[in-house]
Amino acid sequence: MPEGPEIYRVARQVAERVERKPLTELWFGLARPAEAAKVLAGQQIQAVETRGKALLLKFESDHVVYTHNQLYGRWMFAKPDRRPDTRRQLRLAISTGTDSALLYSASDIEVLGPEQLTSHPFLARVGLDILSSGAEPAAIKDWVSQPRYAGRQLAHLLLDQSFLAGVGNYLRSEILFLAGLAPEQRLRDLDEKARQRLADAVHTLMWRSVKTAGVTNAPDLVRELKNAGWRRRDYRHYVFSREGQACHQCDSPILRTTISTRRLYHCPHCQPSA
Ligand SMILES: [Zn+2]
Repeated sequence: MPEGPEIYRVARQVAERVERKPLTELWFGLARPAEAAKVLAGQQIQAVETRGKALLLKFESDHVVYTHNQLYGRWMFAKPDRRPDTRRQLRLAISTGTDSALLYSASDIEVLGPEQLTSHPFLARVGLDILSSGAEPAAIKDWVSQPRYAGRQLAHLLLDQSFLAGVGNYLRSEILFLAGLAPEQRLRDLDEKARQRLADAVHTLMWRSVKTAGVTNAPDLVRELKNAGWRRRDYRHYVFSREGQACHQCDSPILRTTISTRRLYHCPHCQPSA
C-alpha cells in the first residue's frame, strides 16, 4: 500500500496538470459523487493537497473532492484525447486542454462542502500531515509531545493515522531506526533529546521518500552500494525487509517482529530499549 510520500508525489503530478487551469472535463464514474459534483461546474481546482493517504482537490467555492485510494486506487495521466490501456474502471477524469488526470479503481470518492470537512470520518481524525502542512521539526516535536500520545508504544502509534498522517509500514521501521528508538518504547519514556530525534527522523524520512520515490537509506551509503552493484531492494532501506542481514551501522543482524499485525524490522544494538 502506498504511504504518504507516494501519495504526495502523485498529488504533485495531478497539480502540475490540472491546478489553476480551465477544466474541459470533470467526470465521475460513481453516481453519488457525480450528482454532488454539479456544484463544481465551471470551477477551477485551486489546490491539490494530501491528508496522509487521502488526496484532496480544492475548488474555488471551497468544495473539495476527497479521494482515498485504499488498496486499489491508481492515478494515471494521459493526453485529453487518449486513455491508458488498462482494464481498470475509470472513477474520476479531470481534463484541461493539454492533459488528463485519471483515477482508476478507487471507490472512496466524495464531493464535500466546506462545512463537511471537519465532520468527515477520515478528515476529522487524521493527524499531522508533515508534507502538506510543511511542518518543521520543532512543530513535529510539539505535536508528538501532546499528553494524549504519552502512554502509547511507538510502534503502535506510528501506524495510527491520527498521530502522523501518511506514515505506513516501511516508514515506521525506518523512522525508529534513524531515531535510535526501540519499538516498544512509549513517548513518556523519551527525554527531550529522544523526542527531538524522533521529530527529526520523521521530517527527514518523509521528505527523503518524496525525493527518492521511497528510498529511505542514507544518500551517501545508497550511492556507495549502488556503485558496488547492489540491487534497489537491497540498498533501499536501513532495516525494513532486511531480516537477518547486517545492520549498515553496526553489523548486527536485523530482527523482524510483528507489531499491530504488521511486520516491523529493527536493530536491537542501534535501537536499545532503555
Ligand atoms: Zn545496528
